[in-house]
Amino acid sequence: MKRTAILLLLGTALFVLGSWGFLVHRTVHQLAVYKLPKGMQHFFYSNMEYLVSNAPRPDIRTGTDPAEGPKHYIDFELLGDSAIWKAPLTRAEAFRQYGADSLAHTGYLPYQIETTLELLTNAFRNKNRDSILFYAADLGHYIGDAHVPLHTTENYDGQLSNQKGLHSLWETLVPVLFLDSFHLYSRHKAKYLRQPAEKLRVALRQANSLLPAVFNEEIQASKNFTDSLKYRVQIRNGKESRSYSTAFAQEYGNRCGKAINQQLLRSADLIADYWYTAWVNAGRPNLAALENKPFDKDSYKKEQQVYKKNELIKNKMLLSKKEQQ
Ligand SMILES: [Zn+2]
Repeated sequence: MKRTAILLLLGTALFVLGSWGFLVHRTVHQLAVYKLPKGMQHFFYSNMEYLVSNAPRPDIRTGTDPAEGPKHYIDFELLGDSAIWKAPLTRAEAFRQYGADSLAHTGYLPYQIETTLELLTNAFRNKNRDSILFYAADLGHYIGDAHVPLHTTENYDGQLSNQKGLHSLWETLVPVLFLDSFHLYSRHKAKYLRQPAEKLRVALRQANSLLPAVFNEEIQASKNFTDSLKYRVQIRNGKESRSYSTAFAQEYGNRCGKAINQQLLRSADLIADYWYTAWVNAGRPNLAALENKPFDKDSYKKEQQVYKKNELIKNKMLLSKKEQQ
Protein backbone atom coordinates (compact mmCIF):
# COMPACT_ATOMS: atom_id res chain seq x y z
CA MET A 1 0.00 0.00 0.00
CA LYS A 2 2.85 2.32 0.83
CA ARG A 3 4.26 1.74 -2.63
CA THR A 4 0.94 2.71 -4.15
CA ALA A 5 1.11 5.96 -2.21
CA ILE A 6 4.41 6.83 -3.83
CA LEU A 7 3.04 6.20 -7.29
CA LEU A 8 0.02 8.28 -6.43
CA LEU A 9 2.22 11.09 -5.22
CA LEU A 10 4.10 11.07 -8.51
CA GLY A 11 0.78 11.09 -10.30
CA THR A 12 -0.34 14.09 -8.28
CA ALA A 13 2.90 15.88 -9.08
CA LEU A 14 2.17 15.25 -12.73
CA PHE A 15 -1.12 17.04 -12.62
CA VAL A 16 0.06 19.88 -10.43
CA LEU A 17 3.38 20.58 -12.07
CA GLY A 18 2.92 19.35 -15.64
CA SER A 19 4.11 16.10 -17.10
CA TRP A 20 7.70 16.14 -15.89
CA GLY A 21 7.21 13.32 -13.40
CA PHE A 22 7.02 10.86 -16.26
CA LEU A 23 9.64 12.37 -18.51
CA VAL A 24 11.74 9.23 -18.85
CA HIS A 25 8.81 6.88 -19.51
CA ARG A 26 7.71 9.16 -22.34
CA THR A 27 11.20 9.63 -23.72
CA VAL A 28 12.00 5.93 -23.97
CA HIS A 29 8.80 5.20 -25.90
CA GLN A 30 9.81 7.67 -28.57
CA LEU A 31 13.37 6.33 -28.74
CA ALA A 32 12.11 2.73 -29.02
CA VAL A 33 10.12 3.64 -32.15
CA TYR A 34 13.32 4.55 -34.03
CA LYS A 35 14.73 1.05 -33.46
CA LEU A 36 11.91 -0.83 -35.17
CA PRO A 37 12.22 -2.67 -38.49
CA LYS A 38 10.49 -1.69 -41.72
CA GLY A 39 7.29 -3.68 -41.20
CA MET A 40 6.58 -1.83 -37.96
CA GLN A 41 7.91 1.66 -38.70
CA HIS A 42 4.85 3.07 -40.42
CA PHE A 43 2.37 2.10 -37.72
CA PHE A 44 4.51 2.94 -34.72
CA TYR A 45 5.82 6.22 -36.12
CA SER A 46 2.31 7.33 -37.09
CA ASN A 47 1.18 6.63 -33.55
CA MET A 48 4.23 7.88 -31.72
CA GLU A 49 2.35 10.67 -29.97
CA TYR A 50 -0.12 8.19 -28.52
CA LEU A 51 2.68 5.92 -27.28
CA VAL A 52 4.53 8.84 -25.72
CA SER A 53 1.58 10.46 -24.02
CA ASN A 54 0.26 7.13 -22.68
CA ALA A 55 3.63 5.91 -21.41
CA PRO A 56 2.83 6.88 -17.78
CA ARG A 57 -0.75 5.52 -17.86
CA PRO A 58 -0.10 2.42 -15.74
CA ASP A 59 1.20 4.67 -12.93
CA ILE A 60 -1.90 6.83 -13.17
CA ARG A 61 -4.05 3.67 -12.94
CA THR A 62 -2.68 2.98 -9.47
CA GLY A 63 -4.91 5.83 -8.28
CA THR A 64 -8.07 3.94 -9.18
CA ASP A 65 -7.05 0.29 -9.24
CA PRO A 66 -5.68 -1.20 -6.01
CA ALA A 67 -4.38 -4.26 -7.91
CA GLU A 68 -2.15 -2.13 -10.15
CA GLY A 69 0.63 -1.19 -7.68
CA PRO A 70 2.44 -4.56 -7.37
CA LYS A 71 2.70 -4.83 -11.14
CA HIS A 72 5.38 -2.11 -11.13
CA TYR A 73 8.07 -3.62 -8.91
CA ILE A 74 9.53 -6.76 -7.42
CA ASP A 75 11.23 -6.87 -4.01
CA PHE A 76 13.57 -9.75 -4.75
CA GLU A 77 15.00 -9.96 -1.23
CA LEU A 78 11.52 -10.71 0.15
CA LEU A 79 11.21 -13.72 -2.14
CA GLY A 80 14.02 -15.61 -0.44
CA ASP A 81 17.72 -16.16 -0.69
CA SER A 82 19.18 -15.31 -4.13
CA ALA A 83 15.67 -14.96 -5.57
CA ILE A 84 17.00 -12.65 -8.26
CA TRP A 85 18.77 -15.75 -9.61
CA LYS A 86 16.40 -18.47 -8.49
CA ALA A 87 12.87 -17.05 -8.80
CA PRO A 88 10.88 -18.76 -11.56
CA LEU A 89 10.95 -17.11 -14.95
CA THR A 90 7.31 -17.82 -15.71
CA ARG A 91 4.24 -16.31 -14.12
CA ALA A 92 2.46 -19.65 -13.72
CA GLU A 93 5.38 -21.16 -11.83
CA ALA A 94 5.91 -18.04 -9.68
CA PHE A 95 2.26 -17.88 -8.62
CA ARG A 96 2.32 -21.61 -7.87
CA GLN A 97 5.51 -21.31 -5.81
CA TYR A 98 4.85 -18.08 -3.89
CA GLY A 99 1.06 -17.67 -4.06
CA ALA A 100 -0.91 -14.63 -5.18
CA ASP A 101 -1.08 -13.03 -1.71
CA SER A 102 2.64 -13.11 -1.28
CA LEU A 103 3.30 -11.69 -4.75
CA ALA A 104 0.75 -8.92 -4.13
CA HIS A 105 3.03 -7.91 -1.25
CA THR A 106 6.44 -8.35 -2.90
CA GLY A 107 5.38 -7.12 -6.32
CA TYR A 108 5.55 -9.15 -9.51
CA LEU A 109 6.80 -6.83 -12.25
CA PRO A 110 8.49 -9.48 -14.46
CA TYR A 111 5.36 -11.63 -14.46
CA GLN A 112 3.24 -8.63 -15.39
CA ILE A 113 5.58 -8.07 -18.32
CA GLU A 114 4.99 -11.68 -19.42
CA THR A 115 1.22 -11.12 -19.29
CA THR A 116 1.39 -7.84 -21.18
CA LEU A 117 3.63 -9.37 -23.85
CA GLU A 118 0.98 -12.03 -24.42
CA LEU A 119 -1.77 -9.41 -24.61
CA LEU A 120 0.21 -7.41 -27.15
CA THR A 121 0.94 -10.55 -29.20
CA ASN A 122 -2.77 -11.38 -29.27
CA ALA A 123 -3.63 -7.83 -30.27
CA PHE A 124 -1.19 -8.13 -33.21
CA ARG A 125 -2.69 -11.52 -34.15
CA ASN A 126 -6.18 -10.02 -34.14
CA LYS A 127 -4.95 -6.93 -36.00
CA ASN A 128 -6.78 -4.87 -33.43
CA ARG A 129 -5.36 -1.39 -33.86
CA ASP A 130 -6.51 0.06 -30.53
CA SER A 131 -5.41 -2.96 -28.52
CA ILE A 132 -1.98 -3.00 -30.17
CA LEU A 133 -1.42 0.61 -29.17
CA PHE A 134 -2.84 0.13 -25.69
CA TYR A 135 -0.71 -2.88 -24.80
CA ALA A 136 2.41 -1.56 -26.54
CA ALA A 137 2.21 1.54 -24.33
CA ASP A 138 1.63 -0.55 -21.17
CA LEU A 139 4.38 -3.05 -22.00
CA GLY A 140 6.86 -0.24 -22.59
CA HIS A 141 5.99 1.27 -19.22
CA TYR A 142 6.60 -1.92 -17.25
CA ILE A 143 9.87 -2.58 -19.09
CA GLY A 144 10.95 0.96 -18.24
CA ASP A 145 10.21 0.26 -14.56
CA ALA A 146 12.36 -2.90 -14.72
CA HIS A 147 15.40 -0.71 -15.42
CA VAL A 148 14.99 1.44 -12.30
CA PRO A 149 17.13 -0.16 -9.55
CA LEU A 150 14.76 0.95 -6.78
CA HIS A 151 11.93 -1.03 -8.42
CA THR A 152 13.78 -4.23 -7.49
CA THR A 153 14.15 -3.78 -3.74
CA GLU A 154 12.20 -3.56 -0.52
CA ASN A 155 14.10 -0.33 0.29
CA TYR A 156 12.42 1.25 -2.71
CA ASP A 157 12.43 4.81 -1.40
CA GLY A 158 15.49 4.69 0.84
CA GLN A 159 12.97 4.53 3.69
CA LEU A 160 14.93 1.75 5.44
CA SER A 161 18.26 3.59 5.28
CA ASN A 162 17.18 7.10 6.28
CA GLN A 163 17.21 8.23 2.65
CA LYS A 164 13.51 8.77 2.13
CA GLY A 165 12.76 10.45 -1.18
CA LEU A 166 15.52 8.59 -3.02
CA HIS A 167 13.00 7.09 -5.45
CA SER A 168 11.92 10.33 -7.07
CA LEU A 169 15.44 11.75 -6.73
CA TRP A 170 16.84 8.98 -8.95
CA GLU A 171 14.05 8.50 -11.46
CA THR A 172 12.56 11.99 -11.64
CA LEU A 173 14.56 14.89 -10.21
CA VAL A 174 17.89 13.91 -11.75
CA PRO A 175 16.52 13.10 -15.25
CA VAL A 176 14.63 16.40 -15.30
CA LEU A 177 17.81 18.30 -14.48
CA PHE A 178 20.11 16.30 -16.74
CA LEU A 179 18.04 15.17 -19.73
CA ASP A 180 19.37 17.91 -22.00
CA SER A 181 22.89 16.56 -21.51
CA PHE A 182 21.90 12.89 -21.87
CA HIS A 183 22.85 10.83 -24.87
CA LEU A 184 19.60 9.59 -26.39
CA TYR A 185 20.97 7.57 -29.29
CA SER A 186 22.02 3.94 -29.17
CA ARG A 187 23.01 1.78 -32.16
CA HIS A 188 20.61 -0.92 -31.08
CA LYS A 189 18.03 -2.24 -33.56
CA ALA A 190 15.08 -4.29 -32.38
CA LYS A 191 16.08 -7.93 -31.90
CA TYR A 192 13.87 -10.99 -31.71
CA LEU A 193 13.93 -12.50 -28.22
CA ARG A 194 13.73 -16.28 -28.13
CA GLN A 195 13.61 -16.22 -24.34
CA PRO A 196 12.18 -12.83 -23.37
CA ALA A 197 11.87 -13.75 -19.68
CA GLU A 198 15.56 -14.63 -19.48
CA LYS A 199 16.56 -11.42 -21.18
CA LEU A 200 14.34 -9.51 -18.76
CA ARG A 201 15.90 -11.23 -15.77
CA VAL A 202 19.34 -10.17 -16.98
CA ALA A 203 18.04 -6.58 -17.18
CA LEU A 204 16.57 -6.81 -13.66
CA ARG A 205 19.83 -8.19 -12.27
CA GLN A 206 21.76 -5.44 -13.98
CA ALA A 207 19.43 -2.75 -12.56
CA ASN A 208 19.61 -4.38 -9.12
CA SER A 209 23.42 -4.42 -9.24
CA LEU A 210 23.38 -0.61 -9.34
CA LEU A 211 21.71 -0.37 -5.92
CA PRO A 212 24.86 -0.08 -3.78
CA ALA A 213 25.88 2.99 -5.82
CA VAL A 214 22.34 4.42 -5.76
CA PHE A 215 22.41 4.40 -1.94
CA ASN A 216 26.08 5.22 -1.47
CA GLU A 217 26.19 8.26 -3.73
CA GLU A 218 23.44 9.80 -1.61
CA ILE A 219 25.59 9.33 1.48
CA GLN A 220 28.64 10.79 -0.25
CA ALA A 221 26.70 13.74 -1.67
CA SER A 222 25.22 14.47 1.76
CA LYS A 223 28.67 15.20 3.18
CA ASN A 224 28.65 18.55 1.39
CA PHE A 225 25.14 19.52 2.50
CA THR A 226 23.50 20.72 5.68
CA ASP A 227 19.92 19.53 6.13
CA SER A 228 18.54 22.94 5.24
CA LEU A 229 20.34 22.84 1.88
CA LYS A 230 19.72 19.16 1.26
CA TYR A 231 15.94 19.24 1.61
CA ARG A 232 13.05 21.28 0.44
CA VAL A 233 10.37 21.46 3.10
CA GLN A 234 6.76 22.09 2.18
CA ILE A 235 3.60 22.23 4.20
CA ARG A 236 0.80 20.25 2.59
CA ASN A 237 -2.60 19.99 4.23
CA GLY A 238 -1.03 21.12 7.48
CA LYS A 239 1.61 18.39 7.27
CA GLU A 240 5.27 18.95 6.72
CA SER A 241 6.73 17.10 3.74
CA ARG A 242 10.40 16.90 2.89
CA SER A 243 11.97 16.21 -0.49
CA TYR A 244 15.48 16.58 -1.89
CA SER A 245 16.42 20.08 -3.05
CA THR A 246 17.40 20.91 -6.62
CA ALA A 247 20.95 21.70 -5.51
CA PHE A 248 21.23 18.26 -3.91
CA ALA A 249 19.77 16.57 -7.01
CA GLN A 250 22.41 18.34 -9.09
CA GLU A 251 25.20 17.04 -6.85
CA TYR A 252 23.70 13.54 -6.72
CA GLY A 253 23.25 13.46 -10.51
CA ASN A 254 26.88 14.48 -11.04
CA ARG A 255 28.00 11.69 -8.73
CA CYS A 256 25.86 9.08 -10.50
CA GLY A 257 27.66 9.90 -13.74
CA LYS A 258 26.28 8.05 -16.77
CA ALA A 259 24.36 5.41 -14.82
CA ILE A 260 20.90 6.96 -15.16
CA ASN A 261 21.43 7.84 -18.82
CA GLN A 262 22.52 4.26 -19.51
CA GLN A 263 19.45 2.82 -17.82
CA LEU A 264 17.28 5.08 -19.96
CA LEU A 265 18.98 3.80 -23.13
CA ARG A 266 18.74 0.16 -22.02
CA SER A 267 15.01 0.64 -21.38
CA ALA A 268 14.41 1.94 -24.91
CA ASP A 269 16.43 -0.95 -26.41
CA LEU A 270 14.51 -3.65 -24.57
CA ILE A 271 11.13 -2.02 -25.24
CA ALA A 272 11.90 -2.17 -28.98
CA ASP A 273 12.92 -5.84 -28.63
CA TYR A 274 9.69 -6.72 -26.83
CA TRP A 275 7.44 -4.87 -29.29
CA TYR A 276 9.25 -6.59 -32.16
CA THR A 277 9.09 -10.02 -30.52
CA ALA A 278 5.32 -9.72 -30.04
CA TRP A 279 4.89 -8.77 -33.70
CA VAL A 280 7.04 -11.67 -34.96
CA ASN A 281 5.27 -14.16 -32.68
CA ALA A 282 1.95 -12.95 -34.08
CA GLY A 283 3.13 -13.82 -37.61
CA ARG A 284 4.32 -10.35 -38.67
CA PRO A 285 0.87 -8.92 -39.51
CA ASN A 286 0.68 -6.14 -42.07
CA LEU A 287 0.36 -3.07 -39.85
CA ALA A 288 0.29 -0.56 -42.69
CA ALA A 289 -3.19 -1.88 -43.49
CA LEU A 290 -4.37 -0.73 -40.04
CA GLU A 291 -3.31 2.85 -40.64
CA ASN A 292 -5.37 5.25 -42.70
CA LYS A 293 -2.77 8.03 -42.56
CA PRO A 294 -0.11 7.83 -45.29
CA PHE A 295 3.38 7.11 -43.97
CA ASP A 296 5.45 10.27 -44.10
CA LYS A 297 8.67 8.50 -45.02
CA ASP A 298 10.62 11.70 -45.58
CA SER A 299 9.90 13.11 -42.17
CA TYR A 300 10.62 9.71 -40.60
CA LYS A 301 14.00 9.56 -42.34
CA LYS A 302 14.81 13.13 -41.37
CA GLU A 303 13.92 12.40 -37.77
CA GLN A 304 16.08 9.26 -37.81
CA GLN A 305 19.05 11.38 -38.86
CA VAL A 306 18.40 13.88 -36.07
CA TYR A 307 18.08 10.98 -33.62
CA LYS A 308 21.35 9.45 -34.81
CA LYS A 309 23.13 12.76 -34.25
CA ASN A 310 21.62 12.94 -30.75
CA GLU A 311 19.96 16.22 -31.63
CA LEU A 312 16.29 15.48 -30.89
CA ILE A 313 16.19 17.99 -28.04
CA LYS A 314 18.15 20.63 -29.93
CA ASN A 315 15.69 20.33 -32.84
CA LYS A 316 12.67 20.36 -30.52
CA MET A 317 11.67 16.88 -31.68
CA LEU A 318 11.57 15.13 -28.33
CA LEU A 319 7.85 14.90 -27.64
CA SER A 320 8.23 14.46 -23.88
CA LYS A 321 9.96 17.85 -23.69
CA LYS A 322 7.29 19.47 -25.83
CA GLU A 323 4.61 18.20 -23.48
CA GLN A 324 6.43 19.92 -20.64
CA GLN A 325 6.15 23.32 -22.24
ZN1 LIG B 1 5.42 2.29 -13.05
